[in-house]
Amino acid sequence: MRCSTTMPPKETNTTRHNGGNEFNGDRPVYCTFCGRSAEEVQTLISAPFSSALICDICTANHVDLLRAHLPQFTKQKAARRSGLASFTPRSIEHALSEFVIEQERAKKILAVSVYNHYKRIDAETLVGVEGFEDTEIEKANILLLGPTGTGKTLLAQTLAKILDVPFAIADATTLTEAGYVGDDVESILSSLLQAADYDLTRAERGIIYLDEVDKIARKSDSASITRDVSGEGVQQGLLKLLEGTIAGVPPKGGRKHPEQPLIHVNTKHILFIAGGAFDGLDKIILKRLHQNPIGFGAKFPSRIDEKAVDIFQYVEAEDLLKFGFIPELIGRFPVLAPLNGLSREAMLRVLTEPRNALVKQYRKLFAMEGVELEFERPALELVIDKALERGSGARSLRSIMEQTLMDVMFTLPDNDRAEKVIITRDTVSGGEPLVINSERKAA
Ligand code: ADP
Repeated sequence: MRCSTTMPPKETNTTRHNGGNEFNGDRPVYCTFCGRSAEEVQTLISAPFSSALICDICTANHVDLLRAHLPQFTKQKAARRSGLASFTPRSIEHALSEFVIEQERAKKILAVSVYNHYKRIDAETLVGVEGFEDTEIEKANILLLGPTGTGKTLLAQTLAKILDVPFAIADATTLTEAGYVGDDVESILSSLLQAADYDLTRAERGIIYLDEVDKIARKSDSASITRDVSGEGVQQGLLKLLEGTIAGVPPKGGRKHPEQPLIHVNTKHILFIAGGAFDGLDKIILKRLHQNPIGFGAKFPSRIDEKAVDIFQYVEAEDLLKFGFIPELIGRFPVLAPLNGLSREAMLRVLTEPRNALVKQYRKLFAMEGVELEFERPALELVIDKALERGSGARSLRSIMEQTLMDVMFTLPDNDRAEKVIITRDTVSGGEPLVINSERKAA
C-alpha cells in the first residue's frame, strides 16, 4: 500500500508498505523519529519535500502527546489564529482602562465577551479533536446601554485597537429596509472592508460598532398592524447579518445596482457591538422593578433614590422588548453592558488621565512649539460645567477646549518669546490666557 500525504511526495520519498522489505530506491528505510525500520512498523509516511519519514507508532504517540497538552495546544492555536497570544480578559480590561475612565462593569463584560468571541473562532480549528466535537459556541454580540458621551464608541474603538482588528462605525439611523431610500444593511460592511484595506480575511474578523441602535426601536409596544418601515423592518434586516451570512457588498459602498460586481463577505465571525442611549428605558426598567421587586430579591433595594442609581444595570431582555426591539434582535445581543453617566469627578479624569487625554494632547501640541501649557484647576472645572450644560456627557469637552485655545493657537506660532501659556477660568469664559514670555528666548 502506498501511504498518501496531503502533498505529493517526491519520487525519492515514495514510501511503501508491504509488511517488510521496505526500501527507498535500493536503500533500507527507517522512521526518522524512532529509527525503527520498515519491517518493524505497519506504515511509514514520507514528508513531502524531504527524506524524513514517520512511522505509525510515532504518529500515534504524537497524537497522545498533543491530547495530553491540549490546553496549551489550544491556547497556542488561539494565539496563532486570532492574535490573542498575550491577552486574557484581565489584560484586555487593563488595556481598556488606559483609554477609558470608569465604566468598570462594561469593561469587564466586554473583555470576557471579546475574549470568548475570538476563542469561538479558534474553536473551529479543533474540529476532530476529542472532547471538542459536539458543542458549538454561539456568537455573542454585545449591546452597550448608556447615556450619550459616556464612552460606548470609545470602548468599541479601543477594543479593536488593542486586538488589532479592523473597525467600522455604522449609524443605525441611516439604515432602511431593502428597497427604501437610505442605506441597505449590507452597506455597513463596506466601511469595514475599507478599514481592512480590502483584505477580506481580516475584515471577516473585524468589529462593527452599530451606533444609535435604540433609534430603530418600534415606536410603540403595542403590536401595530401598519408596517413600521424605519424600525421593525431594519431590525429584521439586521438579523441575518448579526448572526452570520454571506452578504454581497458593493466595494465602494452606497446602494447595490445590478451590474456592479459585489464582494462576498461572511459575517459569521464579525463581532457586532451596538450602542444607544435608550432614553425612556430607565422608566420601563423601574416600572418592572416596582411591580415585581420580589423577583429581584435582595439585589434591588425596595426604596431607591432613582436619580442616584444607575437603573440600566438592572436591564433585562423583557425591558428591551417593551422598548420596541423584536425578540429575535434581542436574542442576537445576549450580552448587555450598561454604562453609567459620568460624574464631575469622572469628567475631570477624562480630561487629564487617559493615554490620549485632551489636556495631554494640547500639551503636546504646545510643546512642539517649545511652549509649556498649564491648565488651572478652576479652568478645567468650568470646561466641565459647560459640557454638563450641553448634556452630551464628555462628548462636548473637545469642542469647548478647542474654542478656549483657538486664539492662542492662532497667535503662538508667531511668538518666539513665549515660554509658557496658562489657561485660567477667565480664558474659558472667553478671556485671554496668561502668556509668559522669556527674555532669554527673545535674545
Ligand atoms: P458615546 O457613549 O456617545 O458613544 P463616545 O465614546 O463617542 O460616547 O465619547 C465621546 C468622547 O468623549 C470620546 O471620544 C472621549 O474623548 C470622551 N469620553 C467619553 N466617555 C469617556 C470615558 N469613559 N473615558 C474617557 N473618555 C471618554
